[in-house]
Amino acid sequence: MSEYSFFAAVEKSFDKAAQFTKWDKGLLEQIRACNSVLRLRFPVKKEDGSIEVIEAYRVQHSHHKTPCKGGIRFSMGVNQDEVMALAALMTYKCAIVDVPFGGGKGGIKIDPKKYTTYELEKITRRYTTELVKKNFIGPATDVPAPDYGTGEREMAWMVDTFATLHPENIDAAGCVTGKPVSQGGVNGRREATGLGVFFGLREVCNIQSQMEKRGMTTGVEGKRVVVQGLGNVGFHTAKFFYEAGSILVGIAEYEGSIFKEDGINIFELMEHRKKTGSILNFPGATNLENSKAALELDCDILIPAALENVIDAENAPRIKAKVIGEAANGPITPEADEILIEKEILVVPDMYLNAGGVTVSYFEWLKNLSHVRYGRMEKRFNENVNAKILEEIEELSGKRVDDKARKLIKHGADEIDLVHSGLEETMINATREVIGVWDANPEIPDMRTAAYVVAINKVATTYAELGIFP
Ligand code: GLU
Repeated sequence: MSEYSFFAAVEKSFDKAAQFTKWDKGLLEQIRACNSVLRLRFPVKKEDGSIEVIEAYRVQHSHHKTPCKGGIRFSMGVNQDEVMALAALMTYKCAIVDVPFGGGKGGIKIDPKKYTTYELEKITRRYTTELVKKNFIGPATDVPAPDYGTGEREMAWMVDTFATLHPENIDAAGCVTGKPVSQGGVNGRREATGLGVFFGLREVCNIQSQMEKRGMTTGVEGKRVVVQGLGNVGFHTAKFFYEAGSILVGIAEYEGSIFKEDGINIFELMEHRKKTGSILNFPGATNLENSKAALELDCDILIPAALENVIDAENAPRIKAKVIGEAANGPITPEADEILIEKEILVVPDMYLNAGGVTVSYFEWLKNLSHVRYGRMEKRFNENVNAKILEEIEELSGKRVDDKARKLIKHGADEIDLVHSGLEETMINATREVIGVWDANPEIPDMRTAAYVVAINKVATTYAELGIFP
Protein backbone atom coordinates (compact mmCIF):
# COMPACT_ATOMS: atom_id res chain seq x y z
CA MET A 1 0.00 0.00 0.00
CA SER A 2 1.01 3.61 -0.50
CA GLU A 3 -0.15 6.88 1.00
CA TYR A 4 -0.43 8.18 -2.56
CA SER A 5 -3.19 7.32 -5.01
CA PHE A 6 -1.82 6.21 -8.38
CA PHE A 7 -2.59 9.58 -9.97
CA ALA A 8 -1.06 11.40 -7.00
CA ALA A 9 2.07 9.26 -7.43
CA VAL A 10 2.33 10.36 -11.07
CA GLU A 11 1.83 13.98 -9.99
CA LYS A 12 4.55 13.57 -7.37
CA SER A 13 7.02 12.29 -9.97
CA PHE A 14 6.00 15.13 -12.28
CA ASP A 15 6.59 17.78 -9.61
CA LYS A 16 9.93 16.26 -8.68
CA ALA A 17 11.04 16.61 -12.30
CA ALA A 18 9.38 19.97 -13.02
CA GLN A 19 11.93 21.77 -10.79
CA PHE A 20 14.65 20.77 -13.27
CA THR A 21 12.83 22.56 -16.11
CA LYS A 22 12.45 26.24 -16.94
CA TRP A 23 8.74 26.34 -17.72
CA ASP A 24 6.11 28.72 -16.41
CA LYS A 25 4.13 27.40 -13.40
CA GLY A 26 0.81 27.76 -15.19
CA LEU A 27 2.01 25.83 -18.19
CA LEU A 28 3.32 23.03 -15.98
CA GLU A 29 -0.06 22.90 -14.28
CA GLN A 30 -1.79 22.56 -17.65
CA ILE A 31 0.52 19.72 -18.69
CA ARG A 32 -0.08 17.87 -15.42
CA ALA A 33 -3.87 18.20 -15.38
CA CYS A 34 -6.27 15.62 -16.84
CA ASN A 35 -8.21 17.41 -19.58
CA SER A 36 -11.31 15.23 -19.93
CA VAL A 37 -12.78 12.41 -17.87
CA LEU A 38 -15.71 10.38 -19.17
CA ARG A 39 -17.44 8.13 -16.66
CA LEU A 40 -20.03 5.75 -18.01
CA ARG A 41 -22.68 3.45 -16.60
CA PHE A 42 -24.55 1.21 -18.99
CA PRO A 43 -26.58 -1.98 -18.67
CA VAL A 44 -25.78 -5.38 -20.11
CA LYS A 45 -28.22 -8.25 -20.31
CA LYS A 46 -26.35 -11.44 -19.48
CA GLU A 47 -27.00 -14.83 -21.00
CA ASP A 48 -28.94 -15.96 -17.91
CA GLY A 49 -31.36 -13.06 -18.50
CA SER A 50 -30.12 -10.90 -15.59
CA ILE A 51 -29.20 -7.25 -16.10
CA GLU A 52 -25.94 -5.83 -14.79
CA VAL A 53 -24.86 -2.21 -14.66
CA ILE A 54 -21.32 -1.78 -15.95
CA GLU A 55 -18.92 0.96 -14.79
CA ALA A 56 -16.49 2.24 -17.43
CA TYR A 57 -14.17 5.16 -18.16
CA ARG A 58 -12.26 6.94 -20.87
CA VAL A 59 -9.83 9.68 -19.91
CA GLN A 60 -8.09 12.11 -22.24
CA HIS A 61 -5.19 13.48 -20.28
CA SER A 62 -3.70 15.80 -22.87
CA HIS A 63 -4.64 17.32 -26.21
CA HIS A 64 -1.34 19.04 -26.93
CA LYS A 65 -1.26 16.58 -29.82
CA THR A 66 -4.18 14.64 -31.19
CA PRO A 67 -5.51 12.00 -31.36
CA CYS A 68 -5.30 10.91 -27.75
CA LYS A 69 -3.88 7.43 -27.40
CA GLY A 70 -3.88 4.66 -24.85
CA GLY A 71 -5.20 1.22 -24.01
CA ILE A 72 -8.47 -0.04 -22.57
CA ARG A 73 -8.22 -2.36 -19.60
CA PHE A 74 -10.73 -4.86 -18.28
CA SER A 75 -10.10 -5.36 -14.60
CA MET A 76 -11.84 -5.16 -11.23
CA GLY A 77 -9.11 -2.71 -10.19
CA VAL A 78 -10.36 -0.08 -12.64
CA ASN A 79 -11.38 3.23 -11.07
CA GLN A 80 -11.24 6.87 -12.09
CA ASP A 81 -7.95 7.57 -10.34
CA GLU A 82 -6.22 4.61 -11.97
CA VAL A 83 -7.43 5.51 -15.46
CA MET A 84 -6.36 9.13 -14.94
CA ALA A 85 -2.89 8.04 -13.84
CA LEU A 86 -2.50 5.67 -16.77
CA ALA A 87 -3.68 8.37 -19.20
CA ALA A 88 -1.12 10.80 -17.79
CA LEU A 89 1.64 8.20 -18.18
CA MET A 90 0.56 7.83 -21.83
CA THR A 91 1.10 11.56 -22.44
CA TYR A 92 4.65 11.41 -21.10
CA LYS A 93 5.35 8.06 -22.75
CA CYS A 94 4.32 9.29 -26.20
CA ALA A 95 6.36 12.47 -25.78
CA ILE A 96 9.55 10.60 -24.84
CA VAL A 97 9.41 8.26 -27.83
CA ASP A 98 8.31 11.03 -30.22
CA VAL A 99 4.94 9.52 -31.00
CA PRO A 100 2.68 12.45 -31.92
CA PHE A 101 -0.28 11.70 -29.64
CA GLY A 102 -1.78 13.04 -26.45
CA GLY A 103 -2.30 10.59 -23.59
CA GLY A 104 -5.53 8.70 -23.06
CA LYS A 105 -6.70 5.58 -21.28
CA GLY A 106 -9.88 3.62 -20.76
CA GLY A 107 -11.14 0.93 -18.50
CA ILE A 108 -14.14 -1.25 -17.81
CA LYS A 109 -14.55 -2.48 -14.24
CA ILE A 110 -15.15 -6.17 -14.92
CA ASP A 111 -13.36 -9.45 -14.37
CA PRO A 112 -13.37 -10.76 -17.95
CA LYS A 113 -13.07 -14.36 -16.70
CA LYS A 114 -16.58 -14.09 -15.24
CA TYR A 115 -18.31 -13.43 -18.57
CA THR A 116 -18.99 -15.52 -21.65
CA THR A 117 -17.44 -14.48 -24.95
CA TYR A 118 -20.88 -13.36 -26.11
CA GLU A 119 -21.30 -11.16 -23.03
CA LEU A 120 -17.82 -9.68 -23.41
CA GLU A 121 -18.59 -8.83 -27.02
CA LYS A 122 -21.84 -7.13 -25.97
CA ILE A 123 -20.04 -5.11 -23.27
CA THR A 124 -17.20 -4.08 -25.62
CA ARG A 125 -19.55 -3.07 -28.43
CA ARG A 126 -21.81 -1.12 -26.07
CA TYR A 127 -18.78 0.64 -24.56
CA THR A 128 -17.60 1.58 -28.07
CA THR A 129 -21.06 2.90 -28.96
CA GLU A 130 -21.00 5.05 -25.83
CA LEU A 131 -17.57 6.40 -26.82
CA VAL A 132 -18.89 7.20 -30.31
CA LYS A 133 -21.90 9.03 -28.83
CA LYS A 134 -19.60 11.18 -26.69
CA ASN A 135 -16.99 11.66 -29.44
CA PHE A 136 -14.36 9.84 -27.37
CA ILE A 137 -13.19 7.56 -30.15
CA GLY A 138 -12.06 8.13 -33.73
CA PRO A 139 -8.87 8.08 -35.83
CA ALA A 140 -8.48 11.85 -35.37
CA THR A 141 -9.74 12.20 -31.81
CA ASP A 142 -8.98 9.25 -29.55
CA VAL A 143 -7.52 5.87 -30.47
CA PRO A 144 -7.75 3.03 -27.92
CA ALA A 145 -5.58 -0.10 -27.89
CA PRO A 146 -5.19 -3.29 -25.84
CA ASP A 147 -4.15 -3.20 -22.22
CA TYR A 148 -4.47 -5.50 -19.19
CA GLY A 149 -7.34 -7.94 -19.85
CA THR A 150 -7.89 -6.99 -23.51
CA GLY A 151 -6.33 -8.01 -26.81
CA GLU A 152 -6.84 -8.32 -30.54
CA ARG A 153 -10.32 -9.81 -30.18
CA GLU A 154 -11.70 -6.81 -28.28
CA MET A 155 -10.02 -4.40 -30.71
CA ALA A 156 -11.71 -6.22 -33.62
CA TRP A 157 -15.12 -5.75 -31.95
CA MET A 158 -14.34 -2.08 -31.37
CA VAL A 159 -13.27 -1.29 -34.93
CA ASP A 160 -16.26 -3.16 -36.32
CA THR A 161 -18.67 -1.21 -34.10
CA PHE A 162 -17.04 2.11 -34.97
CA ALA A 163 -16.97 1.38 -38.71
CA THR A 164 -20.64 0.33 -38.64
CA LEU A 165 -21.59 3.64 -37.03
CA HIS A 166 -19.32 5.61 -39.41
CA PRO A 167 -19.66 3.97 -42.83
CA GLU A 168 -18.55 7.21 -44.52
CA ASN A 169 -15.23 7.35 -42.67
CA ILE A 170 -12.59 5.93 -45.00
CA ASP A 171 -10.05 5.97 -42.15
CA ALA A 172 -12.29 4.10 -39.71
CA ALA A 173 -9.70 1.31 -39.26
CA GLY A 174 -7.48 3.86 -37.49
CA CYS A 175 -10.00 4.31 -34.65
CA VAL A 176 -8.22 1.65 -32.59
CA THR A 177 -4.86 -0.17 -32.73
CA GLY A 178 -3.74 -3.64 -31.70
CA LYS A 179 -6.22 -5.15 -34.15
CA PRO A 180 -5.78 -8.56 -35.76
CA VAL A 181 -3.77 -8.19 -38.98
CA SER A 182 -6.84 -9.30 -40.97
CA GLN A 183 -8.76 -6.31 -39.53
CA GLY A 184 -6.14 -3.67 -40.33
CA GLY A 185 -3.58 -4.54 -37.65
CA VAL A 186 0.15 -4.41 -38.22
CA ASN A 187 2.57 -7.34 -38.02
CA GLY A 188 4.67 -7.06 -34.88
CA ARG A 189 2.13 -5.27 -32.64
CA ARG A 190 1.53 -8.33 -30.47
CA GLU A 191 5.12 -8.62 -29.22
CA ALA A 192 5.83 -4.87 -29.43
CA THR A 193 5.75 -3.93 -25.74
CA GLY A 194 7.92 -6.89 -24.70
CA LEU A 195 10.37 -6.30 -27.52
CA GLY A 196 10.53 -2.60 -26.62
CA VAL A 197 11.28 -3.50 -22.99
CA PHE A 198 14.06 -5.76 -24.23
CA PHE A 199 15.54 -3.14 -26.60
CA GLY A 200 15.38 -0.48 -23.87
CA LEU A 201 17.04 -2.62 -21.20
CA ARG A 202 19.62 -3.95 -23.66
CA GLU A 203 20.61 -0.37 -24.42
CA VAL A 204 20.84 0.46 -20.70
CA CYS A 205 23.02 -2.63 -20.22
CA ASN A 206 25.29 -1.38 -23.00
CA ILE A 207 26.11 1.81 -21.07
CA GLN A 208 29.42 1.06 -19.41
CA SER A 209 29.26 3.77 -16.74
CA GLN A 210 25.83 2.58 -15.51
CA MET A 211 26.94 -1.05 -15.42
CA GLU A 212 30.26 -0.31 -13.72
CA LYS A 213 28.48 1.65 -10.98
CA ARG A 214 26.59 -1.53 -10.12
CA GLY A 215 29.45 -3.96 -10.50
CA MET A 216 28.04 -5.37 -13.72
CA THR A 217 29.55 -6.07 -17.11
CA THR A 218 27.92 -4.69 -20.26
CA GLY A 219 25.52 -6.69 -22.44
CA VAL A 220 22.47 -8.83 -21.62
CA GLU A 221 24.03 -12.21 -22.33
CA GLY A 222 24.45 -14.21 -19.13
CA LYS A 223 22.52 -11.67 -17.03
CA ARG A 224 20.26 -13.26 -14.39
CA VAL A 225 16.72 -12.06 -14.99
CA VAL A 226 13.46 -12.34 -13.00
CA VAL A 227 10.12 -11.61 -14.70
CA GLN A 228 6.86 -11.07 -12.84
CA GLY A 229 3.78 -11.74 -14.98
CA LEU A 230 3.47 -13.97 -18.03
CA GLY A 231 0.78 -12.02 -19.87
CA ASN A 232 1.48 -10.60 -23.31
CA VAL A 233 4.12 -8.14 -22.06
CA GLY A 234 5.83 -10.45 -19.54
CA PHE A 235 5.93 -13.47 -21.81
CA HIS A 236 7.44 -11.61 -24.75
CA THR A 237 9.94 -9.78 -22.54
CA ALA A 238 11.05 -13.09 -21.01
CA LYS A 239 11.23 -14.68 -24.47
CA PHE A 240 13.46 -11.96 -25.94
CA PHE A 241 15.83 -12.07 -22.95
CA TYR A 242 15.93 -15.86 -23.12
CA GLU A 243 16.72 -15.77 -26.84
CA ALA A 244 19.49 -13.20 -26.22
CA GLY A 245 21.21 -15.60 -23.82
CA SER A 246 20.08 -14.19 -20.48
CA ILE A 247 19.34 -16.64 -17.66
CA LEU A 248 15.74 -16.55 -16.45
CA VAL A 249 16.30 -17.45 -12.81
CA GLY A 250 12.81 -16.59 -11.56
CA ILE A 251 9.27 -16.24 -12.85
CA ALA A 252 6.22 -15.06 -10.90
CA GLU A 253 2.54 -15.39 -11.71
CA TYR A 254 -0.57 -14.96 -9.58
CA GLU A 255 -0.61 -18.69 -8.68
CA GLY A 256 2.94 -18.55 -7.27
CA SER A 257 6.58 -18.11 -8.22
CA ILE A 258 9.51 -20.34 -9.12
CA PHE A 259 13.31 -20.21 -9.00
CA LYS A 260 15.84 -22.11 -11.12
CA GLU A 261 19.49 -21.28 -10.69
CA ASP A 262 20.60 -22.49 -14.13
CA GLY A 263 17.74 -20.81 -15.97
CA ILE A 264 14.18 -21.51 -17.06
CA ASN A 265 13.40 -22.42 -20.65
CA ILE A 266 10.48 -20.04 -21.23
CA PHE A 267 8.91 -22.15 -23.97
CA GLU A 268 8.97 -25.30 -21.83
CA LEU A 269 7.49 -23.32 -18.93
CA MET A 270 4.62 -22.06 -21.10
CA GLU A 271 3.96 -25.67 -22.21
CA HIS A 272 4.03 -26.81 -18.58
CA ARG A 273 1.57 -24.07 -17.60
CA LYS A 274 -0.75 -24.96 -20.45
CA LYS A 275 -0.73 -28.61 -19.39
CA THR A 276 -0.99 -28.20 -15.60
CA GLY A 277 -2.66 -24.78 -15.32
CA SER A 278 0.23 -23.44 -13.20
CA ILE A 279 3.90 -22.45 -13.35
CA LEU A 280 4.46 -24.32 -10.07
CA ASN A 281 6.20 -27.73 -10.00
CA PHE A 282 8.16 -26.94 -13.15
CA PRO A 283 10.80 -29.71 -13.50
CA GLY A 284 14.14 -28.67 -11.97
CA ALA A 285 12.72 -25.48 -10.41
CA THR A 286 11.95 -24.68 -6.76
CA ASN A 287 8.50 -23.40 -5.79
CA LEU A 288 8.84 -20.21 -3.72
CA GLU A 289 6.56 -19.51 -0.77
CA ASN A 290 4.30 -17.09 -2.63
CA SER A 291 3.82 -15.12 -5.80
CA LYS A 292 5.69 -12.01 -4.63
CA ALA A 293 8.73 -13.93 -3.34
CA ALA A 294 10.38 -13.95 -6.78
CA LEU A 295 10.66 -10.15 -6.63
CA GLU A 296 13.19 -10.57 -3.83
CA LEU A 297 15.44 -13.03 -5.63
CA ASP A 298 19.12 -12.26 -6.09
CA CYS A 299 19.36 -11.25 -9.76
CA ASP A 300 20.78 -8.65 -12.15
CA ILE A 301 17.53 -7.47 -13.74
CA LEU A 302 14.06 -7.61 -12.20
CA ILE A 303 11.15 -6.99 -14.57
CA PRO A 304 7.72 -6.45 -13.04
CA ALA A 305 5.36 -6.93 -15.99
CA ALA A 306 1.94 -7.21 -14.37
CA LEU A 307 0.13 -4.48 -12.47
CA GLU A 308 0.85 -1.38 -10.40
CA ASN A 309 2.14 -1.16 -6.78
CA VAL A 310 3.84 -4.57 -6.53
CA ILE A 311 6.99 -3.07 -5.01
CA ASP A 312 6.13 -0.98 -1.97
CA ALA A 313 7.80 0.27 1.21
CA GLU A 314 7.36 -3.17 2.77
CA ASN A 315 9.27 -5.32 0.26
CA ALA A 316 11.54 -2.66 -1.32
CA PRO A 317 14.26 -3.01 1.37
CA ARG A 318 14.58 -6.72 0.47
CA ILE A 319 14.93 -6.25 -3.31
CA LYS A 320 18.31 -7.55 -4.45
CA ALA A 321 18.17 -6.77 -8.18
CA LYS A 322 20.72 -4.29 -9.53
CA VAL A 323 18.42 -3.03 -12.27
CA ILE A 324 14.61 -2.91 -12.30
CA GLY A 325 12.88 -2.59 -15.66
CA GLU A 326 9.31 -1.37 -15.26
CA ALA A 327 7.49 -3.27 -18.00
CA ALA A 328 4.18 -2.71 -16.17
CA ASN A 329 2.76 0.74 -15.55
CA GLY A 330 3.43 2.00 -12.01
CA PRO A 331 4.77 -1.19 -10.38
CA ILE A 332 6.76 0.80 -7.77
CA THR A 333 5.09 3.05 -5.19
CA PRO A 334 6.68 6.48 -4.52
CA GLU A 335 7.82 5.29 -1.07
CA ALA A 336 9.51 2.24 -2.59
CA ASP A 337 11.07 4.41 -5.29
CA GLU A 338 12.90 6.46 -2.64
CA ILE A 339 14.18 3.29 -0.94
CA LEU A 340 15.45 1.90 -4.26
CA ILE A 341 17.23 5.17 -5.12
CA GLU A 342 18.91 4.98 -1.72
CA LYS A 343 20.00 1.42 -2.46
CA GLU A 344 21.42 2.64 -5.80
CA ILE A 345 19.25 0.24 -7.74
CA LEU A 346 18.78 1.53 -11.27
CA VAL A 347 15.04 1.83 -11.97
CA VAL A 348 14.34 2.07 -15.70
CA PRO A 349 10.94 3.79 -15.69
CA ASP A 350 7.69 2.49 -17.14
CA MET A 351 6.76 5.60 -19.06
CA TYR A 352 9.49 5.09 -21.54
CA LEU A 353 10.50 1.45 -21.11
CA ASN A 354 7.07 0.05 -21.98
CA ALA A 355 6.49 2.52 -24.82
CA GLY A 356 7.05 -0.18 -27.46
CA GLY A 357 3.33 -0.94 -27.56
CA VAL A 358 2.26 2.59 -28.36
CA THR A 359 5.18 3.04 -30.74
CA VAL A 360 4.01 0.15 -32.88
CA SER A 361 0.42 1.34 -32.43
CA TYR A 362 1.60 4.53 -34.09
CA PHE A 363 2.97 2.48 -37.00
CA GLU A 364 -0.38 0.66 -37.21
CA TRP A 365 -2.32 3.93 -37.23
CA LEU A 366 -0.08 5.28 -40.00
CA LYS A 367 -0.67 2.08 -41.98
CA ASN A 368 -4.42 2.51 -41.55
CA LEU A 369 -4.32 6.11 -42.73
CA SER A 370 -2.11 5.28 -45.70
CA HIS A 371 -4.20 2.21 -46.63
CA VAL A 372 -1.11 0.26 -47.66
CA ARG A 373 0.95 -2.45 -46.01
CA TYR A 374 4.55 -1.56 -45.07
CA GLY A 375 7.05 -2.77 -47.65
CA ARG A 376 4.48 -3.34 -50.38
CA MET A 377 5.91 -0.71 -52.71
CA GLU A 378 9.63 -1.22 -52.25
CA LYS A 379 10.30 -4.81 -51.16
CA ARG A 380 10.71 -6.34 -54.62
CA PHE A 381 12.48 -3.28 -56.02
CA ASN A 382 15.08 -3.50 -53.26
CA GLU A 383 15.48 -7.23 -53.75
CA ASN A 384 16.14 -6.72 -57.46
CA VAL A 385 18.70 -3.98 -56.80
CA ASN A 386 20.41 -6.07 -54.09
CA ALA A 387 20.60 -9.06 -56.45
CA LYS A 388 22.15 -6.87 -59.13
CA ILE A 389 24.77 -5.43 -56.75
CA LEU A 390 25.63 -8.93 -55.56
CA GLU A 391 25.97 -10.15 -59.12
CA GLU A 392 28.33 -7.27 -59.99
CA ILE A 393 30.47 -7.82 -56.88
CA GLU A 394 30.74 -11.54 -57.58
CA GLU A 395 31.70 -10.89 -61.16
CA LEU A 396 34.33 -8.27 -60.22
CA SER A 397 35.81 -10.36 -57.40
CA GLY A 398 35.46 -13.75 -59.08
CA LYS A 399 34.13 -15.11 -55.73
CA ARG A 400 30.67 -16.37 -54.72
CA VAL A 401 29.05 -15.59 -51.36
CA ASP A 402 27.50 -18.53 -49.50
CA ASP A 403 23.74 -19.19 -49.61
CA LYS A 404 23.04 -17.88 -46.11
CA ALA A 405 24.73 -14.53 -46.79
CA ARG A 406 23.12 -14.38 -50.24
CA LYS A 407 19.64 -14.71 -48.70
CA LEU A 408 20.40 -11.98 -46.17
CA ILE A 409 21.86 -9.51 -48.68
CA LYS A 410 19.08 -9.98 -51.23
CA HIS A 411 16.25 -9.73 -48.70
CA GLY A 412 13.95 -6.73 -49.12
CA ALA A 413 12.20 -5.54 -45.96
CA ASP A 414 8.81 -7.00 -45.05
CA GLU A 415 6.34 -5.27 -42.78
CA ILE A 416 7.67 -7.13 -39.73
CA ASP A 417 11.28 -6.12 -40.51
CA LEU A 418 10.32 -2.47 -40.77
CA VAL A 419 8.19 -2.51 -37.63
CA HIS A 420 10.93 -4.16 -35.59
CA SER A 421 13.61 -1.82 -36.89
CA GLY A 422 11.42 1.25 -36.27
CA LEU A 423 10.85 0.03 -32.73
CA GLU A 424 14.54 -0.69 -32.13
CA GLU A 425 15.50 2.77 -33.39
CA THR A 426 12.86 4.39 -31.19
CA MET A 427 13.86 2.58 -28.00
CA ILE A 428 17.58 3.14 -28.50
CA ASN A 429 17.09 6.85 -29.17
CA ALA A 430 14.76 7.28 -26.19
CA THR A 431 17.19 5.49 -23.85
CA ARG A 432 20.09 7.64 -25.02
CA GLU A 433 18.06 10.83 -24.72
CA VAL A 434 16.91 10.08 -21.17
CA ILE A 435 20.36 8.96 -20.01
CA GLY A 436 21.87 11.98 -21.77
CA VAL A 437 19.67 14.39 -19.78
CA TRP A 438 20.48 12.50 -16.58
CA ASP A 439 24.23 12.61 -17.24
CA ALA A 440 24.09 16.30 -18.14
CA ASN A 441 22.48 17.27 -14.84
CA PRO A 442 24.06 15.72 -11.74
CA GLU A 443 21.26 17.19 -9.61
CA ILE A 444 18.72 14.82 -11.17
CA PRO A 445 18.55 11.96 -8.67
CA ASP A 446 17.19 9.09 -10.76
CA MET A 447 16.30 7.93 -14.25
CA ARG A 448 12.53 8.33 -13.71
CA THR A 449 13.02 12.02 -12.99
CA ALA A 450 15.25 12.33 -16.07
CA ALA A 451 12.52 10.68 -18.18
CA TYR A 452 9.91 13.11 -16.82
CA VAL A 453 12.22 16.04 -17.59
CA VAL A 454 12.48 14.86 -21.21
CA ALA A 455 8.69 14.41 -21.40
CA ILE A 456 7.86 17.76 -19.80
CA ASN A 457 10.27 19.59 -22.09
CA LYS A 458 8.74 18.01 -25.18
CA VAL A 459 5.10 18.63 -24.21
CA ALA A 460 5.89 22.16 -23.03
CA THR A 461 7.74 22.94 -26.26
CA THR A 462 4.68 21.89 -28.26
CA TYR A 463 2.46 24.18 -26.18
CA ALA A 464 4.96 27.01 -26.35
CA GLU A 465 5.29 26.72 -30.11
CA LEU A 466 1.53 26.73 -30.45
CA GLY A 467 1.64 30.14 -28.81
CA ILE A 468 -1.84 29.68 -27.36
CA PHE A 469 -3.10 27.63 -24.49
CA PRO A 470 -6.40 25.85 -24.44
N1 GLU B 1 -1.75 -0.21 -23.34
C1 GLU B 1 -0.47 0.04 -23.86
C2 GLU B 1 0.27 1.04 -22.97
O1 GLU B 1 -0.03 1.18 -21.82
C3 GLU B 1 -0.50 0.43 -25.33
C4 GLU B 1 -1.20 1.71 -25.66
C5 GLU B 1 -1.38 1.96 -27.15
O2 GLU B 1 -0.88 1.20 -27.96
O3 GLU B 1 -2.05 2.95 -27.47
O4 GLU B 1 1.22 1.66 -23.37
